[in-house]
Amino acid sequence: MASSRRTIIAGNWKMYKNTAEAEAFVSGLWERLRSQVNSTLPEVVLCPPFTSLQTVQQTISRLNAPFTVAAQTMESREQGAYTGEVSPLMLLDIGIRWAVIGHSERRQYFNETDETVAQKAQAAFKHGLTPIVCVGENLEEREAGQTDRVIERQMAPVLALLASVEMASSKADFVLAYEPVWAIGTGRVCEADEAGRVCKLIRDLLRSKLGNSAWADRTRILYGGSVKPDNVKSLMEQPDIDGALVGGASLDIDSFYTLIDNTCLVSA
Ligand code: PEP
Repeated sequence: MASSRRTIIAGNWKMYKNTAEAEAFVSGLWERLRSQVNSTLPEVVLCPPFTSLQTVQQTISRLNAPFTVAAQTMESREQGAYTGEVSPLMLLDIGIRWAVIGHSERRQYFNETDETVAQKAQAAFKHGLTPIVCVGENLEEREAGQTDRVIERQMAPVLALLASVEMASSKADFVLAYEPVWAIGTGRVCEADEAGRVCKLIRDLLRSKLGNSAWADRTRILYGGSVKPDNVKSLMEQPDIDGALVGGASLDIDSFYTLIDNTCLVSA
């Protein structure tokens, strides 16, 4: 991690936790972390299902806890006959300012493509929401030695979009997550050196394709895929990894707290 970019630890709860469980989690996590509020505490982002977004947001406000809330996906359009979808305006209406975009499970099960992912990221920027855009190769692609090519393909429409967004005037931050699909939920983490190499590739793409270094310097790039309390430290020691997107280990207060605590050791 680089000291100029604040580390992010984001917990993606996927389709887990009802409202009571979500509220208890936020209170319990804050109870453990509150004594540790200092400059090394990472930016903690919680990504509950839609039904718990408001509960988590309200609990955070009530406790005055410095956590950020993100939706797990959103629609790019503002309103219309799109049954089941939630628009950026609807998220803003309940105070949500971040959204995960293009998680591999959205790509795999809900037909999201590189292009729809870029459209959603564009909608996020338009409305001042911070997108966490996910990219990453699957096992077949990794074994065929195509990792870098896949990342470049997935990044292309996102880079085209960023070229048209004036970074200095953007109200939103930009966050990317390198999530190799074969590492998600499998317990098989990507080696830290290799995860760091791919995150550097992503930063180099931002630098070389956008003509100035502003996006490359400011964008936070996370690693995701079986991050656990015992492997987070070596991942965070990589200079181009600015945080983690965590699935399974974010569901339990003890493991998420320990993971955050171990991240603090790197930045201390
Ligand atoms: C994820 O859902 O983005 C993820 C990385 O999951 P896990 O940590 O369980 O691999």
